[in-house]
Parts: sequence; C-alpha cells; structure tokens
Amino acid sequence: MLRTASCPAMLAGGSRILRGLRRKQLDYEHAQKRMVPIEQENLSERHPMTTQSSPVLHVNGRSYRWMSGPTVVVCVDGCEYDYITAAVQAGVVPYFQEMITSGTAYVADCVMPSFTNPNNLSIVTGTPPAVHGICGNYFYDPDTGQEVMMNDPTYLRTGTILAAFADAGAKVAVVTAKDKLRTLLGHKLVGVCFSAEKADQASLAENGIANVLELVGLPLPSVYSAELSEFVFAAGVKLMESRRPDLLYLSTTDYIQHKAAPGAATANAFYAMMDTYLARLGALGATIALTADHGMNAKHGPDGQPNVLYLQDMLDSWLGADAARVILPITDPYVVHHGALGSFALAYLPSGTDMAGLVQRLSAVPGIALALTRAEAAKHFELPADRIGDIAVVSERHVVIGTSAARHDLSGLDAPLRSHGGLSEQQVPLLFNRKVTAVDRARHWRNFDAFDLVLNHIG
Ligand SMILES: [Zn+2]
Repeated sequence: MLRTASCPAMLAGGSRILRGLRRKQLDYEHAQKRMVPIEQENLSERHPMTTQSSPVLHVNGRSYRWMSGPTVVVCVDGCEYDYITAAVQAGVVPYFQEMITSGTAYVADCVMPSFTNPNNLSIVTGTPPAVHGICGNYFYDPDTGQEVMMNDPTYLRTGTILAAFADAGAKVAVVTAKDKLRTLLGHKLVGVCFSAEKADQASLAENGIANVLELVGLPLPSVYSAELSEFVFAAGVKLMESRRPDLLYLSTTDYIQHKAAPGAATANAFYAMMDTYLARLGALGATIALTADHGMNAKHGPDGQPNVLYLQDMLDSWLGADAARVILPITDPYVVHHGALGSFALAYLPSGTDMAGLVQRLSAVPGIALALTRAEAAKHFELPADRIGDIAVVSERHVVIGTSAARHDLSGLDAPLRSHGGLSEQQVPLLFNRKVTAVDRARHWRNFDAFDLVLNHIG
C-alpha cells in the first residue's frame, strides 16, 4: 500500500500558502487511505473472468467490468475546470452543461508533476507514476547519463487498461493529438491507434487503420492549432459511426489553453467545438468520461513577462558552477507552447550535499511553494524514486522554474506565458454523461479513477 509521508518542509511555516498546502496534503492523505491498494501486476496475469453476465478484467491491481455499451474516455489536455465553467456561463456548451446537471461532475486531482505524459499514462493504467514509471515528458537517465524524452514504451513499467481489454477481445481505438503520446498509449495494443499530427501516415500495419484523412474528412492539421484537437474529436465520431469501438480513448493538446485564459473568446470557441462532438458521441449511445491531464495557470506578471525562477543559476551561485544538474520534466519538442517553462523541476546534486539543508534553503525562496528530497517526493507524489532527482522543487501558482536564463529561448512565446506542472494545476474536471452510482460520496477522486468509475459505477 502506498503511503503519504509527512513533510516537514511543508508543515514548517504558518503562511497562507503553507496552510493551503497543508490542507491539500490532508485531502491527499484522505484520498490515499481510500485508494484501492495498487500492486504491480505482470501483463500475463491479466485474465478475463468468464462469469456470463459480468466479465471482469484485472489490470494493475484494480478490477474493471466489461463495458455495457460503447465507452469513451476523453483526456482534455490542460483543462483547468474554469474553462468549462466559463463556457457554460457563456451558454456555448450545452452538452457540458447537460453532463454537469444530468450526469456526474467531480473535481479530481491529477498526478504530480502536473504534466501530460505522466497523467495520460496514469489514466490509461489506473495507477500513479510510481507504478507505471512515466514521471515526466523528459528525464535524466542515470543508466546512460543522457537527458532523454520519456516517449519510449521501454520506460513503461506496466500494461494499460486499453491493451488488456483488446487482449480480452474488445474493439479498442485510441486517437491522440500529438504523436509523442501515441507509442506509449498504444503499447501492446491490438487495435486502432493513431495521432492527428501524423494522420496522413497512418497505416494498417503500424496503426491498425489506413486512409485516416479520408475517413475523417478534414485536412491534416498543424501541430500548433486548435484544429489538431478538433481532428481527434472528429476522428472519434467517425470511428464511432463506422467501427463502433467498445472502448475509445481520445487525448487532445493544450495549445489553446497555453494561449487563452478561461472565458476568452478563443477558449470558449474551443470548448464549443468539443461540445458539438461530445454531443454527437452521446447521441451515438456512448457512455462518456471526460477528465484532464492537468490544469493551466497564468505564469506572468502584469507586464506580460514570464515570472521565471532560474534554478540552475541559483544552484550554481550556491554550490559552484554546474555542481547541480537541473532537469525540467516539462521539456518536449513543442516549445512554442511554453518555452520549456513549468512549475516543477528536479535537480541532481553531488554526493555529500546536505539535501535536507538545501531543501530547507530552497523552501525559503520567494516563489517556491515546496522543495522535497528524493525520498519525500517519491512518497508524497507517488513517483518512481529511481527516475527523479535528488531534490524536487515546485513553484507557486504564477511562477515557473527554468534552468539558466541563457538556456531558454522565449522568442517562440507569442502570448503571455500560461503553463502548468505544480500543485496549483492539480485540480481537474472528472465528468460523466451518465449518473455515477454506488460510490463513496466523500471520496476524493483522481483523474486515473476515470476507467474505474465509467466501467464499474455507471449502468
Ligand atoms: Zn498536457
């Protein structure tokens, strides 16, 4: 059973922020006590039970009932709950409104760090990163001494719910916006799995489907566009109409959320677009679960300039040049979104460093919400200890962490910075188009409970 550690750095002060964090920690401990115990399970141990009325699959220590009809799980990238609230208030998302009023709406916590890859993998495995192993978009591999993208399935330490259902005979389809997630989400999946980004290259051999542009009826979208996410939804609807998958996973991109605040015209238009496709999936008889990989907040000052705390520069001045190696797990090839600036950083330090002392010193720096040693971070955030640094640093809501000022090219940022990665982006929506029943109403949900709720607690 995973356990939450008490964290002296978090509890030491009496400031408003620390009190807020303490409250969050209590919520978190509450959630942990109620979490299903998670055990790592070998792929070969998965098996469908063959009771006639209700077959059940066991995946990564959790049980999932066979779907009673087509089931869609949507991960809306960067969906701070306020985007939905603002679009509902603007009256442009009737289907979201119906989900909230006639279905089920929870506020859930995503996994930390609040980045795309760790959370998508948590959702499709039903486990935290300590189990599935994907703890960032990018990491330092101590085995090779290289800093690498964490896109390769060799880093995945467990199977997915999607592959398990496909193995057991379900028709499964996955559509992602960016190709970077496709190989992870499609790991060992016998079914359809393609990205909007490379939809023109989809083949029967590689993706389980060909002629995707023809099927969807839209041109290949730019990777930096709202259309990339629209393509995901349009493909989902076409797949539901033509192949009627038993299980469909759709994952969008947060290009719009990085650019536009909740309630902005472009944000509302984006959610209105999603709303029409969700309504069509609903009309086709799909049971829908919708959640997010992380939220999104403004990370700039009134002058529009990003609030950046350069951690490598700070550690260089404290410990000597390049004594520390700062890793930013938000790093990915799509720098126009965020310039590799998020609210979570890791640092590797020379042996003999007084980690506890350093963590205490960092905790006192304005703009830093939380600094933890490796052991504290692994326990508190359920991260794989062998893949994180000696310390983990989380910045406050409107602050991001960089390496060195000289290493960040911010010329690609064409709007005041909005980003994620911290505790301040941990709350996400968890919506269903039907009533969720027979659950503990006091339970604090995680985004990776989506499959449990949609398969085990609806219908
Ligand atoms: Zn994301």
